Amino acid sequence: MCGIVAYLGDKEAQPLLLEGLRRLEYRGYDSSGLAVLNGKGLEMVKKVGRIEQLERALGPNPLHGSLGICHTRWATHGKATEVNAHPHTDASGKLAIVHNGVIENYGTLKKKLIEKGFQFRTETDTEVLAFLIGFYFDTLNSETENRLEMAVMEALREVTGTYGLVAIHQDQPDVMVGARRGSPLVLGIGPHEHFLASDVAAIAAHTQTVAHLRDFDVVTVDRQGYRLKSLTHNAPDESGLEISQIDYQAADAEMGDFPHFMLKEIFEQTLSIQNAVRGRLNLEECTAQLGGLNLSPQELRDIDRIVITGCGTAMHAGIVGEYIIESLAHVPVEVEWASEFRLRNSPLDRRTLVLVVSQSGETEDTLGALREARRKGHRVLGICNNVASSLARETDGGVYMYAGPEISVASTKAFTSPTIIFVLLGLLLGRMRFLSASQGLQIIQAIEALPDQITQVLKQSGHINQIAEKYSYSRSMLFFGRQMQYGIALEGALKMKEISYIHAEGHPTAELKHGVIALVDENTPSVFLCPKDGAYDKNINNLQQIKARKGPVIAIATEGDEEILQQADDVIYIPDAPEYTAPILSAVALQLFAYHMAVILGRDVDKPRNLAKSVTVP
Ligand code: GLU
Repeated sequence: MCGIVAYLGDKEAQPLLLEGLRRLEYRGYDSSGLAVLNGKGLEMVKKVGRIEQLERALGPNPLHGSLGICHTRWATHGKATEVNAHPHTDASGKLAIVHNGVIENYGTLKKKLIEKGFQFRTETDTEVLAFLIGFYFDTLNSETENRLEMAVMEALREVTGTYGLVAIHQDQPDVMVGARRGSPLVLGIGPHEHFLASDVAAIAAHTQTVAHLRDFDVVTVDRQGYRLKSLTHNAPDESGLEISQIDYQAADAEMGDFPHFMLKEIFEQTLSIQNAVRGRLNLEECTAQLGGLNLSPQELRDIDRIVITGCGTAMHAGIVGEYIIESLAHVPVEVEWASEFRLRNSPLDRRTLVLVVSQSGETEDTLGALREARRKGHRVLGICNNVASSLARETDGGVYMYAGPEISVASTKAFTSPTIIFVLLGLLLGRMRFLSASQGLQIIQAIEALPDQITQVLKQSGHINQIAEKYSYSRSMLFFGRQMQYGIALEGALKMKEISYIHAEGHPTAELKHGVIALVDENTPSVFLCPKDGAYDKNINNLQQIKARKGPVIAIATEGDEEILQQADDVIYIPDAPEYTAPILSAVALQLFAYHMAVILGRDVDKPRNLAKSVTVP
């Protein structure tokens, strides 16, 4: 959440900062601001709303200078107002910071500073940090060479919470100091210039040479280069930063001919599924090969329980994964919200494998769960998309999604990719236990059939649009699914509420009669996941219970199922697929349903209200 970009180099900062900020807008978009340092001192503009508002304000009066910082906010403390927008200055008005994260002890720090006579202007936690750094800056002798760096480090030693931050100061006009704990920050290294940003997307158009800061790193950039320190020891960090070349095409983060990133990403799933599977199928042995797990066959054989944890869409993928792995490998699986797991003392025995799932690999609650499990001495594997993330660094191994950048706040690829990875895991573990070679081969064939089957679903976009139009009057919707489709009911409902703002609930189908049926009436459509599987007849029974109460029904059914046309008001067909790959097809159908609904209702599809991507706050 929240995007930061900072620049120090030989070019004008403002255009580079704004361009970078636009690429980070998915991370937060309730207000934004930009500050530069030049011969005149610190100049700053902040605006409520989208980055467009900031660009409009700066258009006629650009800020000149070759050192600057900017921020797009997702408010955690204080409303989305101009005064609460970043950058925040200290009491002197000479220091400015941009910050991503939450200063958890800001109340105590603020009280102490008020006692010293400081007066605050905003409701944010970040302003307290700006004042604290400013306070230490002013206590240091003006001749001190590393004055800003020392002040930042001094202040951060008093802070509990999370931060990715950059600070600049008028009295050190050729220096920027970046620090990270919990929230991502990447250093971009170019000839005669350096960037600091929350995500490589912001800087990839200018440099491919980057270094990801680690927790407690403090990097000081000046006109000569950069130097690294760590909050855990004051001396220059000899271990240095790991510099890598990124393979990031800025074009991947463009919409191309699509009207929205979400639609582009829904359509990319034919490819992202192939990328998740490429090189991971072993036709010879009829199994999956997942080298990154870093586990020997014996260790894999010894696993007798798996706990999957994540948040939001990742958690829903985990629920589908539970059914898939238990059915293919007969290994007991439990799924738990990462936000709950991290705080409760979940019993884990020696042979339990913990699997954490996060697209960004920076989700604060998921990292909390990962750290809790590792603290207990457990082996933790990750499924993530961002190969340079904290999750990738801190896990003992795992499987990358290779889904490419996901810009739309509502996740699509990052649902189907982990789901197919669970099929691969189920295949691998199943083949070590009781699946025969021919059963393994059948699973491989079903996986290989998926890209074409996804294309079949995508072709129905127009039909799904018409159905969305018909039900766009709805104030509330119900989603029902059983077994492997249960997680799809949850995810379908989540997509609908996230981007259309229609109230939507997902339930296990049979739970209908245990309470939810009270919500059924002629104005509350039910989306019924009922592909031709072992539960088909039971599903049709439940469907009739809804029809008997005049509830409209949209069925997601298997191609060739004629009977369903007599039962449901509308039908979206998915190709015939085994129960472990069918959820991916119905997920794509429901992504399109939510997408079209949101467009019809005039919603801001890629930037739904109150949300932001990569939830780096607890
Ligand atoms: N906690 C800070 C605020 O509310 C930063 C939030 C963010 O990460 O955007 O302003």
